[in-house]
Parts: sequence; structure tokens; C-alpha cells
Amino acid sequence: MTRFVFITGGVVSSLGKGISSASLGALLQARGFEVRLRKLDPYLNVDPGTMNPIQHGEVYVTDDGAETDLDLGHYERFTGVPARQGDNVTTGRIYSTVLSRERHGDYLGATVQVIPHVTDAIKEFIETDTDDADFVLCEIGGTVGDIESLPFLEAIRQKANELGRARSMFIHLTLLPHLTAAGEVKTKPTQHSVKELQSVGIQADILLCRAEHPIPADARKKIALFCNVAPERVISAPDVSSIYEVPLVYNNQGFDVEVCKHFGIGHDIKPNLDRWNNIISRVNKPEGEVTIAVVGKYTELPDAYKSLAEALGHGGIANNVAVNMSWIDAEIFESGDAIHRLENVDGILVPGGFGERGAEGKVAAVQFAREHRVPYFGICFGMQMAVIEISRSLASIHGAGSTEFGDVSDPVVGLLTEWKKGDKIEQRDHSVDLGGSMRLGSYPCSLVKNTLAYKVYGTKNITERHRHRYEVNINYAETLQAAGLIFSGMSPDGELPEIIELPEHPWFIGVQFHPELKSKPFDPHPLFKSFIKAAVDHSRLV
Ligand code: GLN
Repeated sequence: MTRFVFITGGVVSSLGKGISSASLGALLQARGFEVRLRKLDPYLNVDPGTMNPIQHGEVYVTDDGAETDLDLGHYERFTGVPARQGDNVTTGRIYSTVLSRERHGDYLGATVQVIPHVTDAIKEFIETDTDDADFVLCEIGGTVGDIESLPFLEAIRQKANELGRARSMFIHLTLLPHLTAAGEVKTKPTQHSVKELQSVGIQADILLCRAEHPIPADARKKIALFCNVAPERVISAPDVSSIYEVPLVYNNQGFDVEVCKHFGIGHDIKPNLDRWNNIISRVNKPEGEVTIAVVGKYTELPDAYKSLAEALGHGGIANNVAVNMSWIDAEIFESGDAIHRLENVDGILVPGGFGERGAEGKVAAVQFAREHRVPYFGICFGMQMAVIEISRSLASIHGAGSTEFGDVSDPVVGLLTEWKKGDKIEQRDHSVDLGGSMRLGSYPCSLVKNTLAYKVYGTKNITERHRHRYEVNINYAETLQAAGLIFSGMSPDGELPEIIELPEHPWFIGVQFHPELKSKPFDPHPLFKSFIKAAVDHSRLV
């Protein structure tokens, strides 16, 4: 029997609903339950694939090729359950479904309305493809009170009514601001937010209260009284130094016990939290530190590279070191002498990216890493920029460039027009829609023996997640190999270069895929583990 937990947020956005949901998922798993997590996003885009990462943060890609909200990354990192297309829906996708049904004649005779047609489509999403998990945790994006959220709140109200109390519950995450002048935390915004929820027919069962510090007992009592919940169901969610501490903080306060009690199941099981204790003791007691320069384009918003930052941290956990990330806008390397900023770092990483802005700065960063023997990790765009740099500097292909930036005399990186997906051939040209048309999701890759990549993975066949439109041009392979580049990972048909490396360098790897998407704190990705190890070795040299 699947139980449904609906998680909403109020007062302000960015409270960390995704991490709270993911932490609850992890705590339920620690009692032996199976969980699935999903996110309902009220915006009108069909998916976040076409959104600017500066506005919305990273696009998280699943094995089945869905471009989804970054919270699905948290879900996967905390629970290890691979996310998929059916775990993220938006208003845009719901309306597309409803409108195509209307055109098809499925509602013949009816006036198509938000209630019941849109709300029915939302409910259908909530209950489909749940794997019969013990718990499905549904996070509603946005903040209670937003106009866009209303159909979603109405749908979860109806759904909970249909399921009954024993199979559904509501958790509401709010903020308790601290007024320095008054010297106290204020509960009024939380009271208002709970009222707002009540006005759409939803009574929160548990309140998670975000605050800088733990909630004082009197504030907890007051919130309980005004918000119609028991005091032990007002859970304090204070700021912590590592997000991986959140499950432990919640467990300490009995959050998971209260959830289990609500459903009358599992509250007397002792959760196994070894995994989280182990991670936190490593995070809190590093034996050293390394600095990694991330040379990118969306550096002003840390969420734009969420999975990457987490994966670097996991590499640190695996090596017992703290990882300092220095986020550098690649454009600064295009003029002047800013390159000296890379002099004291232990590793350089060029992450995924799109468009010409900053590309030459990234090429300059690759050149610096190559010439100064600093560990280099190029991810997707970062691999493409490495191939451009090596083509120009080592293979004398002076006009080397990517057709992503327009016509170039030597397209060492070019538009991917045809590739194999299983038994099918996928085809694209410049005229396709931008949404959902990249080479997306999990693809197999064969590693070449006696290469660094093979040693790092310790196996020949791997699968990794992709999100790109351009690809290293295989027609230049011979020239590049003669110049010292190795193609250490290829698509199984041998057509698409997936991994490159420079054997003469201490650690120089470029990958066409996004390994950061599969890294977990309790199972760090081998490439990040090895890259951070190389950075540690480099830091000992200087
Ligand atoms: N813009 C490049 C491409 O589409 C790289 C994409 C990426 O880094 N994810 O191929």
C-alpha cells in the first residue's frame, strides 16, 4: 500500500524544501521503507530544459532523458533512487496533456475546466508510476499563496481526501525570521502561511520551521497553538554547515517518528543512520583541503552548478579532504593577466555550458592546466573546449572551433546530426525546436584498456547521462591522436568520442557526459574521487 506525503512551502521561497523532502526520504529508507520522490512545479514551461540556469538553477537530467528540476538531484543524492520523467511535472506539461486530450475529443461534450480536468491530470501524475513504493513524497514547488500553485493545492487536497488520513499527510515548511532589534524569532509569518493553506482546505500535519537557530520552547508552543498541530509536530529546521546533516538533525527531533506515527507504521523500528553519521564525521574532520577552480559561465548563482558542487564535495569525502571551490567567470581570462588566478589552485574544472560567451576564456584555462600540469577535468562543454585547445596548440589546427559559435574553418566540434539510441537512429538538424531535442539521458560507453579512464572506472562498459547538441568531430581523430590525445571512451558503435585524455599529463580528462549527476555522498563518482585525489597529490607537490 502506497502512502502519500505532500510537502508545501510558505513565507518565502528557497527554504530548502527539496533537501527537506530528500532528507525525509532518506530517513524513511533508514527504517527499511521504499520511497519515491517527485516534484510538481507550477510554472508554465513544459520542463526546465529551456530555462536559463541563472534564473532557475541547474537542469537535472535523468537516465530516461528527462530534463528536470534540480530538486530531483537532491532526491537521488539522498536516497540513491534514480529519478525519471514521471517524477517531475509542470503546469506547462499538465496543460499540454489536457489540451491535446481536448483536441483529440477525449472530453467531448464537456466544458474543459481547471476543476476537474486540470486537477484530475495532476492527480493522475501523482499516482502513476509509483513502483508500489511504501511512501511517495510529493513536493509542490513555489510558495503557498502563489496564483500558479492553486490547481496543485486543490489537486492534493482532493487526493488526500480520496486516500484518507491513513494514507496521506501534509507537511508544511515555513520560515521563522529572527528580529535582531526585538531579540526574538517571530511566528506570525508562519501563522499566516498555515492560514493560507487552511483557506484552500489543507491542514498541515507537521510544520518544519526554518530558522537560523533551533526554535525556543515557547515559540514552538505558540506555533502549535495557533497552527492547530501538536507541539512535537513543530520541527525545528536550523541552518547546518552541510546539507548531509539535515537527516540527522530531523531524526534528532523525532520528525521521522512523527511521520511514521501519523501513518501508524514503523515508528518503533530503529532507523539505521550509519551512512549519514559516517558522511558527517568525514565532512566535519577533513585531513586536508584542496582548491578547485571551476571556470564557467553561470558562476553568480551556485545553484546553476548544484550537482557539480555536490560531486566535488563527494570527491572530498572519498579522500577525507575539504574541497574549496573557486567559481571563476571564464570571460575574465579573455583579456589582461587574470590567468594568474589559476596559479595557486590544485585542480581546474570547466563544466557544461552553452554559447560562445566565455568560450575563449575556457580555452585559456585548459591551456594553463595543460602547460602547468594542473589536474584538469572537462565536463561536456569543458571536454569540447579541451579538444579545441589541443587542436590549436598541439595539432596545429589553427582554425579549430565549434560550429555552436557559427562557421569555423576547422569544426573539431560540430553539430550532432545522427546517433543511435538503442536500436533507433535519432536525427536532428538546425531547424528542430530547442526544447527536449538534445542527446539526452543515459547512453553506454566502452572504455579503452590501459587508459586512465579505464583505471578510474575499473570496468570496460559504463553508462553515463548526456545533455548536448554538439560532439567532437571524429574526422579529426587521427590528427589529434598523432598529437598525443587519446580517445579513451567511445560510444559502442565507435562513432562518438565520449572520453578524451592526455597521457603525458598527471590528470587530464574530458568527458562528453555529466558524471556529476550520478554521484552520491555515500557513493562518490569514480571520476570525482580520482580528480580530487589528483588535486591532493598536486597540492603536495607545490
Ligand atoms: N553546448 C554544448 C553542446 O550542446 C555543451 C553542452 C553541455 O555542456 N551540456 O554540445
